[in-house]
Amino acid sequence: MEKVQNLIDFIHQSPTPYHAIRTITQRLENAGFTELAENKPWNVKSGGSYYVVRDQSSVICFKIGLKSDFRGYRIVASHSDTPGFKLKPNSTLENPHYMKFNTEVYGGPIFSTWMDRPLGIAGRVYRKTEKGLTLELVDLPDVCLIPNLPIHFNREVNKGAELNPQVDMQAIWSTKGASGKSDFNALINKNDIISHDLFLYNREKGRVLTSGDLFVSPRIDNLECAYTTLEGFLNAENEKDILVYACFNHEEIGSATKQGAGSTFLKDVLERIGYAFNKTWEEQKIALANSVLVSADNAHAIHPNRGEKFDPTNFVKMNEGIVIKHSARQSYTTDAFSTALFQEACKKANVPYQAFANRSDERGGGTLGAISSSQVSITSIDIGLAQLAMHSALETAGTKDVIYMIKAIQSFMGMEYFVEQPNWLLK
Ligand SMILES: [Zn+2]
Repeated sequence: MEKVQNLIDFIHQSPTPYHAIRTITQRLENAGFTELAENKPWNVKSGGSYYVVRDQSSVICFKIGLKSDFRGYRIVASHSDTPGFKLKPNSTLENPHYMKFNTEVYGGPIFSTWMDRPLGIAGRVYRKTEKGLTLELVDLPDVCLIPNLPIHFNREVNKGAELNPQVDMQAIWSTKGASGKSDFNALINKNDIISHDLFLYNREKGRVLTSGDLFVSPRIDNLECAYTTLEGFLNAENEKDILVYACFNHEEIGSATKQGAGSTFLKDVLERIGYAFNKTWEEQKIALANSVLVSADNAHAIHPNRGEKFDPTNFVKMNEGIVIKHSARQSYTTDAFSTALFQEACKKANVPYQAFANRSDERGGGTLGAISSSQVSITSIDIGLAQLAMHSALETAGTKDVIYMIKAIQSFMGMEYFVEQPNWLLK
């Protein structure tokens, strides 16, 4: 249960991708990792552990055994972002009665779950100071809310009400004139903000339900994977392969940004590690051919009231272990080879696993594994933990699964020897 509480704290400290990466890098600093900057030369040595941040919202860290022979890379990847609402540049909206924020939808949140709860605002701002432009992280816990229309004016609300993002999802922060604040800068007492990436967020702290086997929290997708895979990575040891942990921003909007899983970030880092150790072009290609990527992003647990939405034989449950996601159209990268490898890692760690596939008439979602493969094309698998209400402002997951993921990733990363992928089956 201690790990579940740590996860809940981790999520609470990470209202936005910028905060999540800061929380992760603080953990890495405490574990003795050294920061490398992309715009400076790297001094990388055997036995060392390092991290690189891009855009304050994605991180890649790696550790190299003292006697590493660069057989390959053992990589685990997750994402730092969450669906929600982003403030527009001119974010103050006023009408004769209220002060409001003008927001835009980020990714695919379930709108109705954002109504009638205290919302915070967090993200990054640039300010003009004597030193020039200064970056600051901002986190204001109780700022605004998005009110529902009363049922008396919307009698059909429980039959599914349409919510227009420009009309219905604008958050109020004051009644007009009462607070004496005229815009966002005045609200937070900072008049020198030049630009911002700010998001509304659910500031509620996660908690374990009385039964002890379920916990609720905002941002379980995907900070549960970001946290558990980090712990597994930190625990793991491997003398042959280089261990890599990545957490990318922008999965919820398609990953096609300079710091997303579709960028060259991972490829750039792997190449620079190779160069630092004077590996030839061919040696680097050999290392890639021996590498495996585990893409960790949460999965849909069978729904208590809508079980008919799930595949009849490949549905998954909370507290029953690692979900291995399969898709014929390879929206998940999993194949027979990567399944065999990962299941071995789970067995070694005594961790249960289960298979997920969408109903054949449901499309389901995609994730970062397939996107990352377009830049770094290596053996990959898509896994996750089962949860309810994905993309709700408050999600639910199983407490036992937290430790399962930590153990499975530790085992996968430390596994001494992998079955070689045969080039061809000879008689
Ligand atoms: Zn996700």
